[in-house]
Amino acid sequence: MSDIECTRAVVTGGAGFLGSWVCERLLERGFDVVCVDNFCTGTPANLSHLTASPAFDVIDQDVSAQLAVDGPVDWVLHLASPASPLHYLRMPIETLRVGSMGTMNALELARRQDARFVLASTSEVYGDPLVHPQPEHYWGNVNPVGPRGVYDEAKRFGEALTTAYRTAYGVDTGIVRIFNTYGPRMRPDDGRAIPNFVSQALRGEPLTVAGDGTQTRSICYVDDTVAGILAVADSGEAGPINIGNPDEMTMLDLAERIRRLTKTSSPIEFVDLPTDDPRQRCPDTSLACERLGWTPLVSSDEGLARTIEWFAAQRLPA
Ligand code: NAD
Ligand code: UDP
Repeated sequence: MSDIECTRAVVTGGAGFLGSWVCERLLERGFDVVCVDNFCTGTPANLSHLTASPAFDVIDQDVSAQLAVDGPVDWVLHLASPASPLHYLRMPIETLRVGSMGTMNALELARRQDARFVLASTSEVYGDPLVHPQPEHYWGNVNPVGPRGVYDEAKRFGEALTTAYRTAYGVDTGIVRIFNTYGPRMRPDDGRAIPNFVSQALRGEPLTVAGDGTQTRSICYVDDTVAGILAVADSGEAGPINIGNPDEMTMLDLAERIRRLTKTSSPIEFVDLPTDDPRQRCPDTSLACERLGWTPLVSSDEGLARTIEWFAAQRLPA
């Protein structure tokens, strides 16, 4: 824990999957929280249980255009950005803008208010990695002109900008590189593997495994990721620090696990592998463990079971 007592946090992207959990955990800790979101991929439903709290405010604002928040601010946690490939491929310019102008507006707010700033970066900065597992000192293997470049390069620019604000202006910054995270409040239609497989299994439809399904990801339950983001915020560390669960699996194995846990009879259907889809992804989390004492606690079977239960309780669109 930092020895600075924080009372008011701005969370950009607070209406999204991760952001809504960050807002909730901060409110539980006694913070006043201002969520700033333009709802391009997030939803008011993620916040409906929080809006009655007098400690919680929501501002509907595109942070790429401006970030106007009155009053003192102790933390700026910058999570605003489309995150699913389906979304950032649909909004390529918006994704580049929020990673660049949005990050600059969030950094300027932190600079004006003398606040701690945390950037939600991503394992995508490693691209299709040639080093495995990925430590923070690996520079990555990104195709800047491929379809994923709009997201990967926006985040890489955001990291560079955050570092420059630290060195040039002395802003207290932290960078967290988040690996694939899943859990309740993911949109069933956001196109990522886990919401796709779970909603397909619950509807009795085929599970769409891309390519031959041998590509890997390492999946982290949302409670663990959010604890990691807040540990970086608390710590005063500059980072970048990987936050993820090294529980690596192939996408075919993931689909089979979801079939088993949902007891579905849905078959597997192999579909085209997207361009530049990374072959493998696994975090080296030694730095998070050493510097923050953070380690993921929820096993993939437990996390997937909780996620399936939540999706089953939603009314899934047909
Ligand atoms: P999400 O799409 O659920 O949430 C993103 C939120 O940002 C949404 O509420 C959206 O409306 C908002 N937003 C986007 N552009 C905005 C803008 N210009 N102005 C204001 N609000 C805007 O995605 P998520 O999975 O919750 O991801 C949150 C953050 O974490 C993103 O920055 C993402 O890059 C990062 N991240 C997520 C993962 C993951 O596995 N979920 C992995 C790595 C990094
Ligand atoms: N994927 C899949 N079926 C789907 C959606 C995704 O096999 O219905 C694959 C995707 O091609 C990738 C992996 O699952 O290899 C993870 O995809 P996701 O979009 O969840 O995360 P990211 O690629 O951003 O790590």
